[in-house]
Amino acid sequence: MRLKLSDKKAVLLTELRRQGIWDENLLVVLADIPREDFIPKALRAQAYENAALPIDSGQTISQPYIVAYMTQALGVSKKHKILEIGTGSGYQAVVLAKLCRRLFTIERHLPLFNAAGKMFKKLNIFNITTLFGNGMKGWSEQAPFDRIMVTAASEDIPGKLLEQLKDGGIMVIPIGLQGKIQHIIRITRHGDDYDHEELLAVKFVPLLSGIVHES
Ligand code: SAH
Repeated sequence: MRLKLSDKKAVLLTELRRQGIWDENLLVVLADIPREDFIPKALRAQAYENAALPIDSGQTISQPYIVAYMTQALGVSKKHKILEIGTGSGYQAVVLAKLCRRLFTIERHLPLFNAAGKMFKKLNIFNITTLFGNGMKGWSEQAPFDRIMVTAASEDIPGKLLEQLKDGGIMVIPIGLQGKIQHIIRITRHGDDYDHEELLAVKFVPLLSGIVHES
């Protein structure tokens, strides 16, 4: 028997709870967002599998568990102004936008940047501001941020992002070399001190500098 997408979504949400996603606000938001709209049409049937999927420009939309885990680890509230690096499909941006006050997101691939902007409009989400550029530099005009999420893996933590984190603010970022084990690191700023916690082992596409105009 073939399950409908809505049934598959319910199964996925149960699995996420079992995997340790307890934040009810987050689970409501995940239930609300049509992940099938953020992936290539040919993959629609797989929208609610707990797996990363390919998107345009050789990039990936993260596994739902990783999106949920990173969002929960970030500790988001309605008061927060958040910066996301790596808009990609726009899915993680929408998850964050529904939980915070304002979400700023940067993408270095123009086709992805354009497609994500269209999706935000289509879904009537008005608290997201997008930028086509190199997110390693952050967004100084909009800094400081209460929270920063990086959704591509870096060898080390970009200094500009640390500078643009508010005192008491939190950043989550996958750190590690390509092809090696990477970890999600959670950084909490206390004045000029930054606490580091190593969380989950993950596999992300690389954080790269420069911008790309074609897919
Ligand atoms: N958050 C995305 C995940 C996309 S994968 C989603 O929910 O779909 C990571 C994305 O980071 C890719 O789209 C990649 O192009 C982008 N990226 C990599 N390095 C970047 C940089 N320096 N600045 C901005 N975006 C970057």
